[in-house]
Order: sequence, then C-alpha cells, then structure tokens
Amino acid sequence: MIKIDHIQKQFEKNEVLKDINGEVNKGEVVCIIGPSGSGKSTLLRCINQLETPTSGAVWFNGKDLTKETAQQLSTLGESIGMVFQNFNLFPNLTVIENLTLAPIRVKKMSQTEAKKIGMKYLTRVGLAEKADAYPASLSGGQQQRVAIARALSMNPEVMLFDEPTSALDPEMVGEVLQVMQELADEKMTMIVVTHEMGFAKKVADQVWFMDGGYLLEKDTPKEIFDHPKEERTKDFINKII
Ligand code: ADP
Ligand code: MG
Repeated sequence: MIKIDHIQKQFEKNEVLKDINGEVNKGEVVCIIGPSGSGKSTLLRCINQLETPTSGAVWFNGKDLTKETAQQLSTLGESIGMVFQNFNLFPNLTVIENLTLAPIRVKKMSQTEAKKIGMKYLTRVGLAEKADAYPASLSGGQQQRVAIARALSMNPEVMLFDEPTSALDPEMVGEVLQVMQELADEKMTMIVVTHEMGFAKKVADQVWFMDGGYLLEKDTPKEIFDHPKEERTKDFINKII
C-alpha cells in the first residue's frame, strides 16, 4: 500500500533522512522506534506530505505522492489520517465540531451526515457523552481519543501516529493504546512512532529502528527486540527496556 522509495530530506545543509526505504502492506502495523532527533517525525511528515522530501518517492496505492498537485493531494489527503503527540484539537470548537469540520469543509458532507459519522467514531472511542464538551475540559487521554476519532472521521486508509502517548500522564497511556490496539485488530493500516515497546512487541508486524537519519534495521518485533543485528539497535533497546 505504501512504498518509501529512497527518501532523502535535507533542511538547509542538515540531512535528516538518508536514503530511507520501506514498505507497508495493507492491514499492517509498523512501529518506528529510535532516539530523539533520529528523523522519525520527519519521515511521517514526508509520508503524508506535510514535508516534501528532497529526493525520492512515496508511493501510495501506486501513486507517487511527491508528484501529485496540491489539488490531487487534498483528495488523497483524506486517505491518510494523522495523530500528533499534543492532540492538536481546535480549542475553540466542541468535540463534535472538531470531528465534523474536515468532513464538511473538505468532503463537502452535510452537517447531519458529518455529525452522524462523528458520533459513530466518538462512540467507538468511548466518548459519545463528551460530544458537546470543549477540549480543555477533557483529560489528556480523552483528548487524544478525540483526536483519533477526528482522524477516523475522514475515513482514512492509513493512520499515522507520532508519539501519541508521549504527552500523557502514565495512567492515561493505557486507554489510548487500547483504542489503537482495537484499530489494529480491525486491520487498519498503521504507522506508529512510539516509545511504548510493549505495544510494539504485541501489535507491530514490523518494527523499524531509526538512528541519525538512517533506517538502520527493520524486522519483526521478535527479531528486533530479541535478536537485534545492529549495535545501535542493541544499545537503544537495552536503554529503553
Ligand atoms: P525525531 O522525531 O526522531 O525526534 P525529527 O524528525 O523531529 O526527529 O528531527 C530530525 C532532525 O531534523 C532534528 O535534527 C531536527 O532538528 C531536524 N528538523 C526537523 N524539522 C525541521 C525543520 N522544519 N527545520 C529544520 N530542521 C528540522
Ligand atoms: Mg518526533
């Protein structure tokens, strides 16, 4: 479904992604791990075209996203959902308004239809009763579940998560991972940047280890965690577990 094809990304003289290659099949969960500054967020942003790679291609269902026009991308953009570390909810909108904004504006959906779909996803993340609340009145875990429901409201084919639990108090991490696990069980294609090694072990089909702009090692969770081949991977895993 997604093929990352010799992606390189440079900011000024700083090369932050160095010849990244990888494939994600439909229904797979890929967890990306690695130290801070290794390029994980930049890679996700290159996949959904928040950043344009300096060279290389991102194939999505056979189309090279880096070659699509802005208008084509806005259509395609509906197919890639993104969840950020800091939720990025619109603070001046209620929960349900957060969910219906893009379907109404981008998909030209009617208010009634968008609300119906929004409520479906809010129910799915266990927050139907918060539809009319404002984000600030919710806990971090609830806000992140709303952010997931908001991404799902656009009916994405792939969901990208950038450290979705890193900003949460420890007692709220579980409820967000639970929702993500359920999505994986339903065969949603997902790319998840995370430090939650338990989640990666249990849920990932592939784990990618990034360091210094390189995708140094990619394998099954079992191989990466039990038999890492690269010294850097070993060091990282020993430190984090
Ligand atoms: P990670 O998510 O693994 O912590 P990032 O992808 O955020 O890593 O960052 C990788 C490197 O790219 C860092 O050195 C960071 O400073 C740099 N970087 C990221 N975004 C930008 C940007 N917009 N402009 C300049 N440098 C950036
Ligand atoms: Mg990051």
